[in-house]
Amino acid sequence: MKIIGLTGGIGSGKSTVVKMFKSLGVPIYIADDEAKKLLAKSKVIKRKVIALLGDDAYTKDGPNKPYIASKIFNDSHLLAEMNGIIHPKVATHFKRWVSKQKGRYCIKEAAVLFENDGYKKCDATILVTAPEKLRIQRVMARDGVAKEQVLERMKNQWEDEKKLKLANFVIENIDIEMTKKLVYNLHKKITNLFC
Ligand code: ATP
Repeated sequence: MKIIGLTGGIGSGKSTVVKMFKSLGVPIYIADDEAKKLLAKSKVIKRKVIALLGDDAYTKDGPNKPYIASKIFNDSHLLAEMNGIIHPKVATHFKRWVSKQKGRYCIKEAAVLFENDGYKKCDATILVTAPEKLRIQRVMARDGVAKEQVLERMKNQWEDEKKLKLANFVIENIDIEMTKKLVYNLHKKITNLFC
């Protein structure tokens, strides 16, 4: 089973593209969703996060996401520490998940893949791109947030220019019908590559 890492800047359409691969039967692992689940479930993670960010990081209902986000997205040191707590756990969970999948390849979607060297553990990578202006508009419409908030979230991600140098495949996601065709062709290409 080959592992294909898929990433893209905020609002590029990672989730949209991943759904298209899923409809073609490709097993999909969404690293950020699994990280959120582990943040809520793992007692070891909870203990370490509280030690790092304080008691307010959890409420009686689970992780206090707005509090955690306000802390880590304004402090690159805390963000790195937080990733250091969560990423090893996700990596173990992912390995177990991969061993249960069937097919030639699976896709691991992650918001950051090149920034943290995660791509080195993949057999190949896909970068989803769209013009920055369009990405900002999409996120503002989807999340009902202001432009400044989108720009703030973008700060922790590399520019596409830098990621393009490392990506094996690129899906430009502007027109949805064109994206479907690009996904279908890439699926065929990857399947042939690993047969
Ligand atoms: P994030 O990094 O925030 O998780 P993402 O990269 O996963 O975002 P999506 O959630 O797939 O991006 O897309 C952002 C928004 O743009 C969604 O509301 C989605 O429906 C819309 N969208 C994605 N691709 C297109 C497209 N080609 N045409 C029109 N709308 C699109």
